[in-house]
This record gives sequence, C-alpha cells and structure tokens, in this order.
Amino acid sequence: MPPESKRTDVLIIGASASGLMCAIEAGKRGRKVIVLDHANKAGKKILMSGGGRCNFTNMDVTAENFISHNPHFCKSALSRYTQWNFISMVNEFNIAYHERDLGKLFCDDSAKDILDMLLTECKKVNVKIHLKCEINVIESIGSDYRIKTMNSSFQSTSLVIACGGLSIPKMCASPLGYKIAEQFDHHIWPTSAGLVPLTLQKHDKEKLEVLSGISVESNVSSERIEFNKENILFTHRGLSGPAILQVSSYWRSGEAINVNLLPDIDAELLLKNRQSKQPNTKLKNILSEVLPKRLIPVLFEEALIEQPLQELSQVRINDIANQLHQWEVRPNGTEGYRTAEVTLGGVDCDELSSKTMESKKAKGLYFIGEIVDVTGWLGGYNFQWAWSSGWCAGQVV
Ligand SMILES: Cc1cc2nc3c(=O)[nH]c(=O)nc-3n(C[C@H](O)[C@H](O)[C@H](O)COP(=O)(O)OP(=O)(O)OC[C@H]3O[C@@H](n4cnc5c(N)ncnc54)[C@H](O)[C@@H]3O)c2cc1C
Repeated sequence: MPPESKRTDVLIIGASASGLMCAIEAGKRGRKVIVLDHANKAGKKILMSGGGRCNFTNMDVTAENFISHNPHFCKSALSRYTQWNFISMVNEFNIAYHERDLGKLFCDDSAKDILDMLLTECKKVNVKIHLKCEINVIESIGSDYRIKTMNSSFQSTSLVIACGGLSIPKMCASPLGYKIAEQFDHHIWPTSAGLVPLTLQKHDKEKLEVLSGISVESNVSSERIEFNKENILFTHRGLSGPAILQVSSYWRSGEAINVNLLPDIDAELLLKNRQSKQPNTKLKNILSEVLPKRLIPVLFEEALIEQPLQELSQVRINDIANQLHQWEVRPNGTEGYRTAEVTLGGVDCDELSSKTMESKKAKGLYFIGEIVDVTGWLGGYNFQWAWSSGWCAGQVV
C-alpha cells in the first residue's frame, strides 16, 4: 500500500440516499466506514427531491410499485426495512411531514430535514465522508478492494457501490457505477430515462403548445400499464405531470398513450342528459363545465363546438365521448436524462443477493439504490428502495 493509503472496513461510493443509509447501519455495527463522493455536497438529489420537500416514502409499498427484469428481487429488502422503519426514524427526529394523494409522504418544511437526519446519524457512528473526491481506479487485491483518487488511496474488505443512475448529470450523476459493475463482470440491463416528461411530434407540439401550464386529472395508459386519476400537465415542450411521468417508465418508442380526460364522468351520458334539458346550449359551454376552456378548441373543431346540443346526432355524441375518454397521443420521445427522475435498467438483480445486495461475482462487492435494476414508481418508492437496499447491505458489510 502507498503510505497515504487509508485502511477501513467499508468503502462506500456515493454519499446520498442509499449510501448514507448503508453507512449508518454499518457504523452502528462498529464498522469503520468511509464514504466517497465526487460532488461538493452530500445528498444533492435528496435536497432537490419532491419539489424541495422530499417524498421520502409511501404509506403503501409493494413489489408491484417497482419495475425490474426480476420483479421478485426487491421483495426481501422491502420487507426487511419497510416504510414504517423509515417513518419511525423520521418521527424520532421530530421531522414534520404530511400525506398527499396516493399515500405519498412529504416533509412539511424541507428535504434538508431528511438529509440532516442522515448526516447526524452518520456522525453519531463516526462515518467519514470525503467529498469532491474523483475516483480514478478501483482494483481488487486479494480479498480487498483499493480505490485510487486524485490525492489518496483507500483500501477495505467491503466495497459498496451507491453512486446512482444517469438521471440529471447536472446533479453529479455519472456512469461510474455501471463501469465498476462491468469491471467485475456483471451484466447490465440497458438503461433509459424513467419518470420523465414525454416530447411530441411536431404537429402535436404546435397544436398543444397553447395549453402550456394546464393540468387535467386523467387516467393515462400505455400498452403495459394504466395510472388512474393523476394529473397530466401540458408544457411548452410536451406532456408532463405525475400521470405522464408514471407512464413514461413503461412507454416505448413508437407507442401511443391513451388519456381519459374525464375519468369520473360518462361523457355520453352527460351530453345526452343536457341535450334533453338544454337543447340550445352550445357544446363548448357544456364541455367547459368539466374541462379547462382552452383545451376544448384543441380537441374539437370550431364548427362542432359552436353547435347547439340539439343538432348533435347519437353518432356524433359517441365520437365526442370517445375523444374525451380515449384521447390518443403518440409521443416522439422523452426529455431524457436531463430531466428524468430515475434511470431504468442497471445492474442485473440475478447476479446479486436479494438479502444482502452482495455481488455473486465478487465477494465483498455490493450494489445498492438506483444503480440496481429496480426502479420505483413516482410516489416515494425510489427513496424507499434506496433506504431498504442500503439498510440490507449495512447489516453485513
Ligand atoms: C428531480 C428529482 C426528484 C426526485 N424526487 C423523488 C422523490 O420525491 N421521491 C423519491 O422516492 N424519489 C425521488 N427521486 C429519485 C431519487 O432521488 C433517487 O432514486 C435516489 O436519490 C437514488 O438514491 P441513490 O443513493 O441510489 O443515488 P443518488 O441519490 O443519485 O446518489 C448517488 C451519489 O453518488 C455520487 N456519484 C455519482 N457518480 C460518482 C462518481 N463518479 N464518483 C463519486 N461519486 C459519484 C453522486 O454525487 C451522488 O451523491 C427524484 C429524483 C430527481 C432527479
């Protein structure tokens, strides 16, 4: 070992959600832990998460809320360290939080409360965090791992890769974790941007641009999944909002998505009813009772929406209802890693222990958090995976 080399029990690359959780648990077991990160600050993604309020978990977490080539893999970790375990930790720190729709838990004040809690716990168990640390070389020497950085070198028997996915390079995301996995002969499922806004073909973009800023509660489906009663948001670049982000993780190039713009109303029944009660009322006036006004001329031709209800045939009413309940859009892509919340794909679960996250290829090497081919839905699931997988590795490293 070069003289400046630091010996420790556990080296963790990545000082964010999964890495800090693992560090705390290993530290509690009396292990000497060093966390390395190239960022100038720990937990940048925690700070920017949930619009600055960190949706740190969900009241209802099941394996169905995750996407993976091995849908069973996440079950063990999620059941060993559950949302209730994390909520207890948050309660111990008296962090105020609230529940939003679909069981999402957010801090009342700031995501910084969650990061401060993790850093306080790290400090209690003497975890050392080295920031602005560029990692140049990783090598295995006998049963040890050695990491060389610009100015230093570190050696340990356990090496934990917690350096996340590719989303938001501006927040220090990098492909290092995948490179390390490849170095140790791991299979990586192809990666792509998940929980990401969808972009539109030129003609749709031009047509829908005027709706920028409007959001509509909808049911949105693609070929593999349906998300009910979440908002879609029209933006000047395309479609966003929770319902679109959810579907984006399942969407594949060339496919259409289907939007039910009136999930709680039977449009045919509404129009038939009003036709008999208010035959002289124009279609646009009825529709503007249930949809944002600006949306109506984008969905239907001017001549149609100006018609009084009495002039609409049954066939016409059916067409209008279909358009409202099954509005089809064919995106031309996603906004990519620049704005994606997560990375789909990653280190193949079949080559990791679901109990400990240890590599089946290299003893003492662990992969946790987003780098693993486990991607959560929107709603606090990605952090729960980071806490659960980090906790599991922390019990054994
Ligand atoms: C805008 C946004 C909002 C989000 N909001 C939520 C939310 O509210 N709820 C939720 O559940 N999930 C949310 N997510 C997803 C969540 O942030 C991630 O899934 C989670 O942070 C993954 O944790 P991780 O520890 O695996 O990786 P990360 O949190 O990404 O941490 C990886 C760490 O590794 C470091 N690193 C990377 N490359 C290197 C390198 N080459 N050398 C050294 N260090 C390196 C990084 O600097 C970083 O500190 C959001 C994501 C984004 C982008």
